Amino acid sequence: MPPKDIAIVGAGLAGLACAKTLAAYDVRVRLFDKGRGPGGRMATRRVEAEGHVLNFDHGAQYLTAHGAPFAAVLDAARAQEWPDAGRMVGVPRMSSVPRALAEGLDIDLVRHVTAITGAPRAWYLHHLDARLVRPDRPLPTQKPEVEGPFDAVLLAVPAPQAQALLQDPAPHLAGVLQAVRFEPCWSLMLAFPERLNLPDTLRLDNGPIGWAARDSSKPGRDASLELWVVQGGPEWSREHLELTPQQAGDRLLEAFLQLAALQGQGTPPPPPFFSAAHRWRHALVEAPLGAPCLWDATLGLGAAGDWCIGARAEAAVDSAAALVDAIRSA
Ligand SMILES: Cc1cc2nc3c(=O)[nH]c(=O)nc-3n(C[C@H](O)[C@H](O)[C@H](O)COP(=O)(O)OP(=O)(O)OC[C@H]3O[C@@H](n4cnc5c(N)ncnc54)[C@H](O)[C@@H]3O)c2cc1C
Repeated sequence: MPPKDIAIVGAGLAGLACAKTLAAYDVRVRLFDKGRGPGGRMATRRVEAEGHVLNFDHGAQYLTAHGAPFAAVLDAARAQEWPDAGRMVGVPRMSSVPRALAEGLDIDLVRHVTAITGAPRAWYLHHLDARLVRPDRPLPTQKPEVEGPFDAVLLAVPAPQAQALLQDPAPHLAGVLQAVRFEPCWSLMLAFPERLNLPDTLRLDNGPIGWAARDSSKPGRDASLELWVVQGGPEWSREHLELTPQQAGDRLLEAFLQLAALQGQGTPPPPPFFSAAHRWRHALVEAPLGAPCLWDATLGLGAAGDWCIGARAEAAVDSAAALVDAIRSA
């Protein structure tokens, strides 16, 4: 019999899409995410600087729907075209898309899941306050909270994190995930006091910058602000992955100001009044799993995410749909 009481780790697009569809089939679903809001890599960073509220889409830049399921997600979230026909963004922020999907779902936020214990049909999740967990440091020694039992646990987290969580309860599933690889990405958020002489989007093949976009040119944004998101190219981001955010941000800013000066016929652009860099260790899928999802019906353990299929947000939703189909046919 298909499971009726399911925990999902990860409230990005894949986890949310799984939860939404399962809930429609009357399955009890609880989501756990370490973030302060749902959405994962479809993220928007909100900051206050110089009396302004600044929102930056510092993860996914634009979305394309090739199939009906993702088109329906974009439609329901009232996403709009940018920068041209066929490419879409969340309005007024990229995070509006996952937030629309999250409506009505039971999500525990700021919970970092550290382990899955138990046995088939009776799994327990161990989780800590995510504010205590520092990336690249050993887990803190606080006693985790334990939730369960759940009939099934689904992992909708990037493959390396799914691999770590599956290692004890399902080493055969963890092993399969070893082949999946991601490109990293340094993402720099900039606010300028005046408009730069640049087009709204730039894609570059050489040098540190891979992509730059005038975030404030997207529909529903405050067009009186001059906000930019500048992303390091995959090679540059990989080579400079272990810089501090300050160091990586300074280097990307220098390259971006040079670019803006060149386009402005040598006139140097003004310095930004806000600048912050974010490191995405697992940004875009480089080598996918090559299967739409993972599901072991005997154990009641599964996984979904963009990394099953490919390097686009749509892949996360398609993977979630494949996982729900697999669960329901169990
Ligand atoms: C810089 C960047 C640019 C991109 N540009 C584009 C683009 O232009 N177009 C496009 O289509 N796609 C783009 N993408 C990719 C797109 O964002 C992803 O394909 C999509 O968001 C993946 O969704 P997901 O649900 O599979 O994973 P995620 O969004 O990564 O969701 C995983 C969730 O799991 C949570 N989590 C992880 N570990 C744990 C744990 N132990 N406990 C609790 N929670 C946990 C995370 O907090 C996160 O919310 C970009 C991504 C990045 C980072």
